[in-house]
Amino acid sequence: MISFGPVPSRRLGKSLGINNISSGKVCSYSCVYCQVGITHKFSNQRQKFYDPEVICSEVKKQLAKLSVADQPDYLTFVANGEPTLDINLGRSIEKLKLFNIPVAVITNASLLIDPQVRADLLPADWVSVKIDAGNEDVWKKLNRPADKIDFEMYVKGLITFSNVYKGKLVSETMLVKGLNDTPEELNQVVTVLKSVQPSIAYISVPTRPPAVKSVLPPDEKDINLAYQLFSENQLNAELIIGFEGTDTGFTGNAIEDILNICFVHPIRQDTMNELLKKDQVNPGILTKLLDDNYIKRTEYKSNVFYIRKFPN
Ligand code: SF4
Repeated sequence: MISFGPVPSRRLGKSLGINNISSGKVCSYSCVYCQVGITHKFSNQRQKFYDPEVICSEVKKQLAKLSVADQPDYLTFVANGEPTLDINLGRSIEKLKLFNIPVAVITNASLLIDPQVRADLLPADWVSVKIDAGNEDVWKKLNRPADKIDFEMYVKGLITFSNVYKGKLVSETMLVKGLNDTPEELNQVVTVLKSVQPSIAYISVPTRPPAVKSVLPPDEKDINLAYQLFSENQLNAELIIGFEGTDTGFTGNAIEDILNICFVHPIRQDTMNELLKKDQVNPGILTKLLDDNYIKRTEYKSNVFYIRKFPN
């Protein structure tokens, strides 16, 4: 369950996922658009999940199962929750560097005010920080942070990290209709982005089933407005609003591949079909996983997805 893919990433190419948060989702946020579902275990306290040796050995095993063509461009911490909650993150990154594959971390940035979290991320080659809101009100509605996290501290942590980090720092702003897509809200996001100066300021929209069913992407004109505002403010804006493709890596064990990917994001029907084909298994396996309640089928914006079922 620790390592999966590689999955196609719109930002990283072939990304071998590392889920360093064990079992149920643990996060400092409960974003309305989260593709892993509602946060039941809120935390802003770092804790031990897996030993770095275990993470390293699982990645090694996963790499060994892949063909040469499927070898990843990045080893990416993209967890079932917030990866920086893992107190061993820094040691795991150091160990993974031995594979000579760049290491990426996708973080919600809420813990960057902690000097140890910043120190842990320094050896990573690529770090993506979440910047969805430019004021506390929208931040609380959109990211729904744990009680003890403070907006000003979050922004201070972002700025402090951006001043010391030497790898490639990018940001991701998820636009949600009616929440952060007005000119006023977007201008406030721009103010935070300018203080962080990411090398690329990605703009994304929900494309997979969100935690809150009513969440929708903004209208096209508002997505364009965001792009214009970012660009006019000398931010290197990029839109990542399309489908990332179906080219998922496979290991020959379809059940493991499906469950491991579903742990951190839903699988679209066409990607699922491709994965079953590559793993050379009967599509009946999908019915079995559904009947046994390991995964469930859902729809979002006219597409069918499969998502992991978690106990409450
Ligand atoms: S999108 Fe990321 S930060 Fe937000 S709730 Fe989900 S896992 Fe946590």
